[in-house]
Amino acid sequence: LNERVPEPELEDEIGQLTRSINDLLGRLEQAMKREKQFTSDASHELRTPLSVLRGTLEVLIRKPRTSGEYEQKIQTALGTIDRMSAMIDQLLALARVENAKNLVREELELITFLEEKADQISSEQKRKITFQSQVSLPIYITTNEKSLEMILDNLLHNAIKYSPEDSDIFLRVGKSGAFPYIEVADSGSGIAEAHLEQIFDPFFREKEALDQGIPGTGLGLAIVKKLAQESQIKLSVVSKKDVGSTFRLDFPSQS
Ligand code: ADP
Repeated sequence: LNERVPEPELEDEIGQLTRSINDLLGRLEQAMKREKQFTSDASHELRTPLSVLRGTLEVLIRKPRTSGEYEQKIQTALGTIDRMSAMIDQLLALARVENAKNLVREELELITFLEEKADQISSEQKRKITFQSQVSLPIYITTNEKSLEMILDNLLHNAIKYSPEDSDIFLRVGKSGAFPYIEVADSGSGIAEAHLEQIFDPFFREKEALDQGIPGTGLGLAIVKKLAQESQIKLSVVSKKDVGSTFRLDFPSQS
């Protein structure tokens, strides 16, 4: 794959074809590199907790402990198992998105859908989410409802996780000309400018999230990115460290 077809200085069809082939080979090479990196990251992320778990159990079996010590070690082991199963669930979700081409699309009214979503997550997570609509008329889009729901669940859960308990979270909907958009905005920890692209890479987590022990796998936004691509939704983020983040979804058109 590292080989390239020599590009003749031709403006004819053969010249163009050669350039297209080289472009394709370059993209294929990048994709294979990403795939390799993903496999190695995934195996690392799963093997590390597994060997911690093994270590914990080996220590326990080696010599008798007080019941308090047993309890504490077993709690740690259970925590590890929970984190691993969350990661496996998300890896499966990611694989499902990759395999699910041509998802069924249906008409959906965004204002009602989002109002309900804000209420649902608010009551589940015991956190206020303010719904705001910039327009009063219904907004119809044609999309896969399950995918949109998964995107919003991930973005709203992140907004909750990465912002102080009493701070505002907004779920907004509006239209930019004819094109509907959704925003999830928080006034939380924000994201460093240098990481604004990396946050969408599988397993990437900012150091602060790790240091503060905020639970997570680093897979949520990778899933969001894939789902958005599948649904032709443009995904973007504006964020400032210690000020907050706004994730935005722009829809291709109103149906
Ligand atoms: P997770 O939340 O499981 O770590 P994600 O893929 O959802 O994984 O997010 C990747 C990283 O991006 C997070 O670890 C965090 O550092 C950063 N991040 C995501 N959303 C936000 C947010 N709303 N505010 C601040 N940082 C965020």
